Amino acid sequence: MSDILSAALAGAPAEELAALPLPGTYRAAVVRRSETEMFAGIESAQKDPRASLHVEDVPLPELAPDEAYVAVMASSINFNTVWTSIFEPLPTFGFLDRLGKEGVWGRRHALDYHVVGSDGSGVVLRTGSAVRNWKVGDKVTIHCNYVDDQDPSAHDDSMLAATQRIWGFETNFGGLADIAVVKANQLMPKPTHLSWEEAAVNALCNSTSYRMLVSHNGAQMAQGDKVLVWGASGGLGSFAVQYVLNGGGTPIGVVSSPEKVALLHDLGVDAVIDRREANYRFWSDEHTQDEAEWRRFGKDIRDLVGGEPDIVFEHPGRQTMGASVFACTRGGIIVTCAATSGYMIEYDNRHLWMKLKTIKGSHFANYREAWDANQLVCQGKVLPPLSAVYTLEEVGEAAYQVHHNLHEGKIGVLCLAPGEGLGIDDAELRRRVGEDRITLFRRHGA
Ligand code: NAP
Repeated sequence: MSDILSAALAGAPAEELAALPLPGTYRAAVVRRSETEMFAGIESAQKDPRASLHVEDVPLPELAPDEAYVAVMASSINFNTVWTSIFEPLPTFGFLDRLGKEGVWGRRHALDYHVVGSDGSGVVLRTGSAVRNWKVGDKVTIHCNYVDDQDPSAHDDSMLAATQRIWGFETNFGGLADIAVVKANQLMPKPTHLSWEEAAVNALCNSTSYRMLVSHNGAQMAQGDKVLVWGASGGLGSFAVQYVLNGGGTPIGVVSSPEKVALLHDLGVDAVIDRREANYRFWSDEHTQDEAEWRRFGKDIRDLVGGEPDIVFEHPGRQTMGASVFACTRGGIIVTCAATSGYMIEYDNRHLWMKLKTIKGSHFANYREAWDANQLVCQGKVLPPLSAVYTLEEVGEAAYQVHHNLHEGKIGVLCLAPGEGLGIDDAELRRRVGEDRITLFRRHGA
């Protein structure tokens, strides 16, 4: 790998990279099938990714005609890697086994280890015979929508495809590794003004937030909209508030510490609620929600921005959904992509129907949405919320930080990149976007 790394870092021409032999094995972060019961009987919070995520050498699989090998310079921690590493809500080997039934190329994925990771930035090392738009040496970021383009159901919004999967979660050979195996239609240009680790943290959460708020498949936010964003300094939320600001709306960010309030203020979000300080008790016990607390929350929002949210950006799930449905304005939309605190949801349906509100489900993004969201990063209009950087060997600790909500924004992971700050090709664009803005989360995280 060292020859490949030197050539990639030096920006070697395609012929030189293509002539270098590929290794038979590569370093990867994996969970093991033999360990899926290791946390049996333990409550979620005590399940420790540091025990279940291993970094080891695995064989390099054969490349399908529509795929590329990418030398991964950096990757990031997404919550799906937390789910995989604690084997909740179920072990991901079931996904791999199902994919394993889909022909000769699918069969490669059904292994006794799962290479995790759904983000990455790096350099294309090889392309399969059917790849047309990418070549060896291209600097790329990777989005995680994994679809079979010969499946008719994948052609009117690929997120509706019967075979739609999330790469590195529902497929093997993910991005927390030195080499990733991806479909060519997962590739996007790397933003030239960002380092490898800054470029690696965007695709999954940025694309998801873009679809939820901006796309015609999501809430189609309009100028002037008030948008309530839960977890507004987290992975999804840090992109969501940027989209609201960029689109002429008013974000109301909810976070859980004074440090996060300060970070959001620095990002330009004026209306911020510290949910811990406010001490909302939406649930008075495990089975009962308290409408008085929903009302107190609604009043706090109105006091800050003078009205009710047109859109609620939901992902905490059980703990917050009742409050989200209540707080949303008449005719408004609650767009949800997750349920971190529990997926069996309860809300008062009277508030939904009598006030003609809509709950909309959303999941990642199609290639077009991911591409458009990536373009905004390339142009410096969306900033990378990178707050901390770990090495691949430290992947368990990095996932632990996300599992326990100890981070802000996104955590980057250095794979092949030997250090931080490498890979910036357009220093002039970086200067124009602003070093201070690009590194805002990193400085707050330090
Ligand atoms: P993250 O970086 O951990 O951020 C989530 C934020 O949510 C935290 O910063 C926290 O903010 C807030 N939060 C956590 N528990 C909460 C609770 N009980 N009540 C209120 N706020 C709470 O994670 P993320 O990357 O944004 O992902 C969030 C969820 O979305 C995860 O479950 C993930 O799996 C899912 N997801 C789904 C998709 C998709 O395509 N469907 C894509 C990306 C992520 P404060 O503590 O500061 O309030």
